[in-house]
Amino acid sequence: MVNLQVKEIAVIGGGTMGHGIAEVAAINGFKVHLNDLTLDILQRALNNIRWSLSNLHGKGQLRESPDEVMSRISVTTSLEDAVRNADFIIEAVFEDFNVKSSIFKRASEHAPPHSILASNTSSIPISELASVTNRPDKVIGMHFFNPPVLMKLIEVVRGDKTSDETVNVTVELGRRLGKEPVVVNKDVPGFISNRLFMRLIESACLMVMGNEASIDAVDSAARFKLGLPMGIFELVDFVGIDVVNLILKAMVNRGFKFSGCGLIDDKVKALKLGLKTGEGFYKYPEAGKYSRVKVPKEAGEGVNPVRLIALAVNEAAWLIRNKVASVVDVDTVTKLGFGFPKGLLEYADSYGIGSVIVELIKLRDRYGTVEPDPLIMQMVSEGRVGVKAGSGFYDYGGEGYETVKLTIEPPIAWITLNRPEKLNAINSKMINELITVINKLGAEPFDRVRVVVIKGAGKAFSAGADLTMFSNEEPTEAYLTSRMLQELTNRLERLNKPVIAMIHGYALGGGLELALACDMRIASEDAILGLPEVTLGLIPGSGGVKRLVRLIGLGKAKELILTGAKLTAKEAEELGIVNRVVPINELENETRTIALKLAEEPPITLMIAKGILNIASEGSLEDTLTAESMGFSLLFSTKDSREGINAFLEKRQPKYQGK
Ligand code: NAD
Repeated sequence: MVNLQVKEIAVIGGGTMGHGIAEVAAINGFKVHLNDLTLDILQRALNNIRWSLSNLHGKGQLRESPDEVMSRISVTTSLEDAVRNADFIIEAVFEDFNVKSSIFKRASEHAPPHSILASNTSSIPISELASVTNRPDKVIGMHFFNPPVLMKLIEVVRGDKTSDETVNVTVELGRRLGKEPVVVNKDVPGFISNRLFMRLIESACLMVMGNEASIDAVDSAARFKLGLPMGIFELVDFVGIDVVNLILKAMVNRGFKFSGCGLIDDKVKALKLGLKTGEGFYKYPEAGKYSRVKVPKEAGEGVNPVRLIALAVNEAAWLIRNKVASVVDVDTVTKLGFGFPKGLLEYADSYGIGSVIVELIKLRDRYGTVEPDPLIMQMVSEGRVGVKAGSGFYDYGGEGYETVKLTIEPPIAWITLNRPEKLNAINSKMINELITVINKLGAEPFDRVRVVVIKGAGKAFSAGADLTMFSNEEPTEAYLTSRMLQELTNRLERLNKPVIAMIHGYALGGGLELALACDMRIASEDAILGLPEVTLGLIPGSGGVKRLVRLIGLGKAKELILTGAKLTAKEAEELGIVNRVVPINELENETRTIALKLAEEPPITLMIAKGILNIASEGSLEDTLTAESMGFSLLFSTKDSREGINAFLEKRQPKYQGK
């Protein structure tokens, strides 16, 4: 629960980042006061915002007209005027401590006492900015990525004195801005993103300077072996070699140990700063205009991709061991901040932690880099060496599943239907494995698993029951298969944790029936849903008839089942079959956001509420009322309900433990 409702935002600095942040805030309905040094600069910022809004509008990505969004932005050269009514202030001026600290001091003197002061700094310690204000508990880092309109990630950085309430308000605001905030629990130089980025650069640089590989070879391995959207040197060119150099120097000054990269120093001296000057590690036809760098695929043949990520994985282990970030945070940053197709630690688990350590030792012996982190050494000694062992940074639910994959990322457990070559058609093995997995998750304590998500590998959620299962079956065997499917969907519906179906591609027949037994369904725009059994001369046999009637009423359920119609995600949403439809590239993040929100609620209360809702949809009024009163009185005896009530009275965020 967040007590401060942010309505007005002041953005200080209208440059590259500031104008983008102001635009995102206005798009999401906030009143924005944008401040910069001169009216000319502010006019340029407004022009940039209008240009970007028109682009979004042209692509159909804006709910309102650019004029309506612009009407929420006012500009001023007076810092005092900008902050006077602001609930939240985001500073995005030059990366200069003196300029920033004078702004923080003045802003804190003129802003309302409740308002929060956030800095978009990439390298200045938040606690030092906080110390010049009259409210260090309300000062925080809010590190957006460029361009703020497109990039989903925000690092929310806690200073020494930042309060939990300030963190919660900032995270909530980040979500209301349509972003995915990751909390950096300690104000370490470079936060999560730049620490990992610098380690990728360090590996790449050492390989080139040590004559182990060429720039092309490194970037080819990054692109074609790891599947990254850009090579490492290509990314440095894109960000600006001078910018990388400045951030790196600031981090090193604050104690970040780095082997040095002569290649970067040379380019900075030669003023070959990357894309913006037309030349950096690569040459560009037009300075400042992005063009794809050509990197031959064969160039990277001799490069071990594990070497490229080893130092970054080691850095991630350091962040996790020092409680700066979690495994999921690291992977969210690498996916959303760098566009990795999968998280850094997912790569580490699939290559194997042992291989990462081998590369770290080679690097240490050859170049004097840091020792392998104690966390990964401990993982190896415990046999948690990655996917093959069933556990690494993530838990893969042990070995032995063929048709499903279980990944536990506390507090979420992800079940993946894993027969992508068959569009995840459900066969007997999958039914049995799903029942085993659901039983296992039922026994998982709430401090590990609070929410379960089911999704499909490859192109679909699930195209239905595997028909080959029925080809030679006697009626009695088909009866037993149907009963097993019903057993599965019943167990899912009765699981003591909320279950979300994350649907993309087909969710047909038994696949949709599985999703109907979940508590919520989030679908991507490309999803196709239906119960087409009648078109094969069959009927749904996994409990789907009852669940569909319950969900959308008899009339609509009859139409859908008797015609065997296939619905688009939007049509399914209109009928009430799915709760929400989102663009495919947002499906996983949106599902994760919803799951994390559910995970913040008291788990026993969710378990009881879920049970009573199930009774309400089936039983008589009397059954439901009795269950309600029993649930209500039982919940009064939980520690969590006392915590919820106390937190409400004390105006703080509750911490639920499932007790
Ligand atoms: P920029 O140079 O494009 O913009 C800075 C703006 O601040 C300018 O318009 C300048 O006139 C204004 N300014 C300077 N002093 C001011 C004052 N006293 N009052 C009001 N306005 C003032 O810089 P940028 O790239 O937008 O970076 C801003 C901040 O964001 C920096 O702290 C930077 O480290 C951080 N950051 C930048 C990026 C990026 O990719 N550019 C990414 C993340 C974070």
